[in-house]
Amino acid sequence: MKITAIILCAGSGSRTGLGYNKLFYNNGLGTVLDLTLTTFLSCERVGSVILTYSKKDKSQVAEITKTSDKITAALGGATRFESVNNALKASKGCDIVLIHDGARPFVTREIIDSAIDSAIQYGSGISAIPVVDTIKVTQNGIIKSTPDRSNLYSAQTPQAFRYDLISQAYNKATDNRQPSTNFTDDASVLEWYGTPPRLSLGSPDNIKITSPTDLAKLPSNCKIGLGYDVHRFAKDRKLILGGVQIPHPFGLLGHSDADVLTHAIMDALLSATGLPDIGVLFPDTDNAYKGADSIELLKKVTQKVTDFTIVNISCVIMAQAPKLSPHIQKMRIKLADTLNIKIDQINISATTTEGLGITATADQNGGIAASCNVLIRE
Ligand code: MG
Repeated sequence: MKITAIILCAGSGSRTGLGYNKLFYNNGLGTVLDLTLTTFLSCERVGSVILTYSKKDKSQVAEITKTSDKITAALGGATRFESVNNALKASKGCDIVLIHDGARPFVTREIIDSAIDSAIQYGSGISAIPVVDTIKVTQNGIIKSTPDRSNLYSAQTPQAFRYDLISQAYNKATDNRQPSTNFTDDASVLEWYGTPPRLSLGSPDNIKITSPTDLAKLPSNCKIGLGYDVHRFAKDRKLILGGVQIPHPFGLLGHSDADVLTHAIMDALLSATGLPDIGVLFPDTDNAYKGADSIELLKKVTQKVTDFTIVNISCVIMAQAPKLSPHIQKMRIKLADTLNIKIDQINISATTTEGLGITATADQNGGIAASCNVLIRE
């Protein structure tokens, strides 16, 4: 049995506000179309895939067709109906055809199999889920009626058909010059033809990506970074932590202002993004950074990590003295402001080290250490 999947990619995706076809949106783990294709290609029963495309996406689609012998492309039309009609002609010779919106990347093998099984047994399989909201029929903002919800379903894709059946329905609709805008899915073409289609398994997760919020539901690429720094106490220096000056008999020794917390944050961010650390970016042999305000350096680091958004930052300051709890909130505000994140995205705790280790003493022989974990999303 020959099974072909038509994947519709000829839309513009203007509602997502991307300025390009939303199917080519990449959240770090592949495009919307990649995710959709991967699932279809993982179904052994699906022998070939036809992508419909619009002219402006021709070169990108051509690249995709090179990635698998199973994939070919067919030029789409001005409407969904025309695109499917063209692709149906290109899939001549198959027994079962699946028609799927490329913008439904959360389709599963189970859903595809259910549609195929239904089409083999009954001639059609329309992925659908029961409606959970109460549906209102309206006119000019006024509710006219409330249909019985128990009989209402939301039709999704894939929609699978016996090839001869759906192609006859499309041919008849074309010959009868039916306005193609009458048909917002393929089941409605078959309904018009006079053959009631049959429902198959759908899923509430099998959403169609339409709005910018939907784009955020795509799996994204997260990376974690760790930064650590230590500076020794010194006389006649200011103690600056997280950009906040803290009253203390000792400051920290360093080429810059020796803001050990901000240094740990910078190194965590740089590490997560795979960039060289602050020792390389701001070498202590460079006079430009002598006495530098580390908050200004942090701003420079954030300008380098623009492809990422910060999920959260978690820091620990290790110091025998001074007591830091009265200053923590100020540090969070200063750092969040510099990083352009919300205060609840950055947390800072402080600990003594029980008089042990490199931060053991509160005098000039000791120092302060800071450690930072950051999670970023591409
Ligand atoms: Mg440092």
